[in-house]
Amino acid sequence: MSQLLKDKSTLILGLANRWSIAYAIAQAFRREGAQVTLTYQGERQKDVVEELARDLGASRVLCCDVTQEADLQTLSEMLRGEGEKLDAVVHSIAFANKEDLSRPFYETSRDGFLLAQEVSCYSLVAVARAVAPVMTEGGSIMTLSYLGSQRVMTNYNVMGVAKAALEASMRYLASELGPQNIRVNAISAGPIKTASARGIKDFSKILDHVMETAPLRRNCDTAEVADTAVFLASELGRGITGNIIYVDAGYQVMGI
Ligand code: NAD
Repeated sequence: MSQLLKDKSTLILGLANRWSIAYAIAQAFRREGAQVTLTYQGERQKDVVEELARDLGASRVLCCDVTQEADLQTLSEMLRGEGEKLDAVVHSIAFANKEDLSRPFYETSRDGFLLAQEVSCYSLVAVARAVAPVMTEGGSIMTLSYLGSQRVMTNYNVMGVAKAALEASMRYLASELGPQNIRVNAISAGPIKTASARGIKDFSKILDHVMETAPLRRNCDTAEVADTAVFLASELGRGITGNIIYVDAGYQVMGI
């Protein structure tokens, strides 16, 4: 079968380790023939991500902490300076303080609220601004969301609010970048055991609940999310923008 992303140039933000959703997306993009640039959050992750990048055959690895304007500026300048076009960008970044993912939502501090919004939502806007000028032939930007944006999920709290803002931001970006043939979408993944997910109190109870009640009677995995990312990055997704695609074994359709 021909490769779906052959000769496409892609940027993936949010790979921390082998369990990251971004890692599975990078694997799938490579399998489909894409060139992949990866970013990591900071010095602490540098060695691990560089080693994973070698395994993946990634072309480049850059440091980009999305709370640092200078890092975003460097990313933007580097992309423009190289005169290359970019075809697809994956934003797979989120963060909230651990205490805000365990105590009642009404106890969220101002700082904790703003931090979750900055890292998990505003960063998509900042990244879109950095990459749009080099998506000269159009392309696909995608972010990762979760159903806690629309429904109350125990302990998801401040992150649910950030995901709601992320999904709204995705729609505004889709509207503004559409005339340049840049599509912007979200993949709403079901719960998956990753480093970030472990920060949510009683996360394993969420996994058990989905396994018992989702139409497919199981949880989804990172490879399934990654294949949807391939679809969105490829020509197959060319008519889709401003959308949220659920990769969650069908859990989101269930009521009682
Ligand atoms: P992960 O911990 O592997 O990935 C989160 C990434 O965010 C890490 O690479 C981390 O370094 C990065 N990050 C955090 N703060 C950053 C900053 N200031 N600058 C740059 N990068 C920063 O966990 P994951 O589960 O793969 O999460 C990826 C995305 O998927 C997140 O948006 C998450 O909310 C979303 N998601 C996860 C699940 C799940 O159950 N795991 C479900 C739905 C959506």
